[in-house]
Amino acid sequence: MNKYKILVVEDDAPVRNLITTTLKTHDYLFVTAACGEEAIMQASTCNPDVVFLDLGLPDMDGIEVIKRIREWSNMPIIVISARSDDEDKIEALDMGADDYLTKPFSVEELLARLRVMQRRLSLLASETSATESSVYTNGQLRIDFVARCAYLNGEEMKLTPIEYKLLCLLAQNTGKVLTHTFITQKIWGSSWQNDVASLRVFMATLRKKLETGEDSPQYIQTHIGVGYRMMKVEI
Ligand code: CA
Repeated sequence: MNKYKILVVEDDAPVRNLITTTLKTHDYLFVTAACGEEAIMQASTCNPDVVFLDLGLPDMDGIEVIKRIREWSNMPIIVISARSDDEDKIEALDMGADDYLTKPFSVEELLARLRVMQRRLSLLASETSATESSVYTNGQLRIDFVARCAYLNGEEMKLTPIEYKLLCLLAQNTGKVLTHTFITQKIWGSSWQNDVASLRVFMATLRKKLETGEDSPQYIQTHIGVGYRMMKVEI
């Protein structure tokens, strides 16, 4: 039996059934909610590992559900949105959601997103249990936050200060989709349109230095119109 428990928040019964059937087939435990109030109640009483959250709920906005859950928990939240709700999806990520699925989605996509969250959860667990968390490792990448150095395949990477800041920000949020706004605010303290343009340039140069393996890109995933995510790389 899979030890992960998933909270499925979706008022559309066919979509909810597709998700729960998929979870059942893959031995996940699950609980469901068909509205925001029920979602908040289930999140606090059932202690789920991951939440799938539809943004269009009958009683309240899914964004409000994220805000309420984030008051007391960092549990991974994957939002489900219609293709027309791009801005809602970005707002949800900025409010603290970890990832998103766009309707209509496939069963494979759903399971892939869940696996990313499981890796994120195990990473968070190992970070909190480690006494020394000043070093980050992911695949062949290693960052020493104290020495302010990054290494790839055992060799020091030659990074500019901005590239290093970007790499650290992505690494510290491995598994989570970070929006352009979130990144530019963390790096430059603002988020004007030209910061987003600069971000693309810095991201391109960072990737040239980081994504050198045969199956590149392995580390940084691009979410067009949304942002970027550092993936957990298995060795
Ligand atoms: Ca809905």
